[in-house]
Amino acid sequence: MRRPAFKLSFALAAILIFTAAMWAQQNQNRGDGEIHILPVQGNIYMLVGAGGNITVSVGFDGTLLVDSGSAQMTDKVLATVKQLATMVSASIYPVTPCVGIRCPGGAGSGAFNQWGWTSPAINTIISSPRPVKPIRYIINSSIDPDHTGGNAKIAKSGVTFTGGNVARGPGGSGDSAEVWAFETVLNRMTEGKVAEAAWPTDTYYINSYKWNGFFNGEGIQLFHVPAAHTDGDTIVYFRYSDVISAGDVFSIASYPVIDLAKGGTIQGTIDGLNKILELAIPQFRSQGGTYIIPGHGRLCDEGDVANYRNMVVKIRDRIDDMIKSDMTLQQIKAAKPTLDYDGRYGSPDAFIEAVHKSLTQKR
Ligand SMILES: [Zn+2]
Repeated sequence: MRRPAFKLSFALAAILIFTAAMWAQQNQNRGDGEIHILPVQGNIYMLVGAGGNITVSVGFDGTLLVDSGSAQMTDKVLATVKQLATMVSASIYPVTPCVGIRCPGGAGSGAFNQWGWTSPAINTIISSPRPVKPIRYIINSSIDPDHTGGNAKIAKSGVTFTGGNVARGPGGSGDSAEVWAFETVLNRMTEGKVAEAAWPTDTYYINSYKWNGFFNGEGIQLFHVPAAHTDGDTIVYFRYSDVISAGDVFSIASYPVIDLAKGGTIQGTIDGLNKILELAIPQFRSQGGTYIIPGHGRLCDEGDVANYRNMVVKIRDRIDDMIKSDMTLQQIKAAKPTLDYDGRYGSPDAFIEAVHKSLTQKR
């Protein structure tokens, strides 16, 4: 009687181990076709699963997105953003004795909020939930379709979120969210015959731009790095939340993607990573502090960017040495200058080609 019981429990254990392995594997690849929300810090949330990562600022001024994901994910992105905005900005204020902008519930949750000095206790009793605030701005980190694919539809949805009287909506700015990008993004979209509805409505053209002043209680700065991933890259820095949205200047899921046809270079890529390191301040022993949302892959801190920058510089130097000793591209590839990182960043071929071309073009 004992042996079948033993067999049964053995089989059960095997099934459990197998299920756990399956679960771990599924969990590793988040490609489940859904959009996932990761609260980062302050006003900032990260949406994962829409192509490129999307950075969201939600608060009492409305919603701002850095990047709009790929076109086929737009409906799911919109639903997720609406759900997030409802949770964050359209719920009743909790009763709190806290005063000032650093209350536990974030800016506006204490007695001093966007209406000035008020009694949160009274507000909680008399107010019903506010309507969901609209998406007011999209900032594109580059021209790539997995970062701009949702532009047209998401910008247009800025209307439906305003509700009743659109003209009296936030900013009174009209029937659509504003789309911001570095000016070469607009130039290339115009030349590339991209549908007009996806074009940036507003552009900037200097390397450090104080964007529109304040939004959701914080200053937002745009940094353009010339000739990095492309010639139209924007790094967005949220100064109070202390979060940097890096776009594909920093994409930890792979080796850097340097689009030479659109003006990218290896030196610009390194300059871009150095710019992020210049802005970011790590917390104790490099964990936490300024958070960096990469174009693709997981949430990072300054240490992650530093390791990545060092990897890029090492490989650049190795390839540069090989070029100086007159090795051809085939010989350089055969010498495997990225071998010690391939396990982590995958196939290096496109990266080696881009670095080689970028370095030989310069001479
Ligand atoms: Zn991308």
